[in-house]
Order: sequence, then C-alpha cells, then structure tokens
Amino acid sequence: MAELALKDVRKSFGKVEVIKGVDLQINDGEFVVFVGPSGCGKSTLLRMIAGLEDITDGTLEIGGARVNDLQPKERGIAMVFQTYAIFPHMSVRENVAFGLTIAGVPKAEKEEAVQRAARILQMEHLLDRRPSQLSGGQRQRVAIGRAIVRNPSVFLFDEPLSNLDAALRMDMRMEIGKLHNQLGATMIYVTHDQVEAMTLADRIVVLKDGEVQQVGSPMELYHEPANLFVAGFIGSPS
Ligand code: ADP
Ligand code: MG
Repeated sequence: MAELALKDVRKSFGKVEVIKGVDLQINDGEFVVFVGPSGCGKSTLLRMIAGLEDITDGTLEIGGARVNDLQPKERGIAMVFQTYAIFPHMSVRENVAFGLTIAGVPKAEKEEAVQRAARILQMEHLLDRRPSQLSGGQRQRVAIGRAIVRNPSVFLFDEPLSNLDAALRMDMRMEIGKLHNQLGATMIYVTHDQVEAMTLADRIVVLKDGEVQQVGSPMELYHEPANLFVAGFIGSPS
C-alpha cells in the first residue's frame, strides 16, 4: 500500500486553478523530490498534503485512509520550511520541543524526544544556546529537529536549504540524505536545485503549471525525459 496517494488532486484560488489534477503514489520510506519553475504549484501541493491548505477537489490518502478533512496535527506529518520559523527568545531546547509543549507532552518524555533529535542531528552541545548564537546551518538543524521530535511518518521539506550558502547547502544536503537513511521515513522535498534533486531523490516529480510532466528516478528522467521541458529542467542533452 502506498504511504501517500494523491488522486486527481486539484486546487483553485478563486477562479484560478493552480493544481490541475495530480495523481501520485508515494511509497513508505521513499524520498520524492518535487521540481519545477517558480509558481508551478510545488508549495501549494506540499501545503495541501500537510493540511495547511484545503484540497479543492480530489483525494489525499495517507496509509490508505482519506485524510482530506483531518487537521494538520492529525496527519502524522511534519513540515520544514525555507524560513527557519524559530523563536529568538527561546533556547534551542525550547525551540525543538515547541510542538510537544503545545501538545502538552509531559516533561520527561519531551526531554527524551529532544535528546534523541539532538543526537540524530549532532547538536547536543547547542541545546542551551539562543538562535542568535547559531550559524545558518545550525538554525536549519533546529528547524529539522523540531520536525523529528514529533516522530512523523512523513516529512515535508519546502526548499529548506535555499537560504544557505553553497558550501553549507552541500553539507546539509548530505545530512538530509543521512537523516532519511537513519529514520526510514517518507520524505517529500521541494527544490529547484538540480543537484539536490538528482542526489537525494528515489524519484523526481517534474511539475509545470500545476500538472505533473513526468515521474521517475533521476536516471530515468535524465536518459528518457518525457518532453523538452523535462529535458531542459533536468539538464540532459536531448
Ligand atoms: P511554487 O511553490 O512552485 O513556486 P506555489 O505553490 O507557491 O508555487 O504557487 C502556485 C500558484 O498559486 C502561483 O501562481 C501562486 O501565485 C498561486 N498561489 C499560491 N498561494 C496562493 C494564495 N494563497 N492565493 C492566491 N494564489 C496563490
Ligand atoms: Mg514554493
């Protein structure tokens, strides 16, 4: 059974349809990357999966159950954004624990979850710092830590590295790959960086104007692009 299934999923803002019938199955533990030009609907798709945006039409299933009407926190999904969305007045520990604090998770259990996330991300030594005392990469790690503590079955990343410089982006890219291997969770990752897409993805979904152009492994897309648009985007010669 697919961990995630989108069936003719559509989204309109007013009279404008921006997601035009997306069909997609994502397997348990798979790393799927969404690519496509700015405005093609990548963030809107992620936000619908997360429950931050209503689905205008179609069905979203997680683990075989329809979740269109579930609240974000009922979906077992955590989302990591491009902007870090961490609170400057809180320590790293408090930031990472934030979602659990809101959910009323008992202190001991919360601390255990924070320690586990910190260990996975190798940031135990940063837990008592304030965000102002962190580098860009460390802040992004806090944002990822915040997702990990909730132990989601699905992680969504919306261009999480686009605010980082090139060297740091490469480091974090490798960390995210490691994280995926370690956790075995399903991950959906939006980027417009070809290298990120080609190195991280089990499968890449190429989007244009709210429609899927092609779904395939990096090698399939590279060697057998469905059309010129995909070829141009993936950077293959044909
Ligand atoms: P991407 O993430 O691929 O750059 P988005 O999903 O942000 O694209 O946007 C897809 C389209 O939907 C764009 O045309 C954008 O202007 C439009 N859009 C996104 N959010 C809204 C909104 N809240 N209201 C109206 N239009 C929106
Ligand atoms: Mg976007």
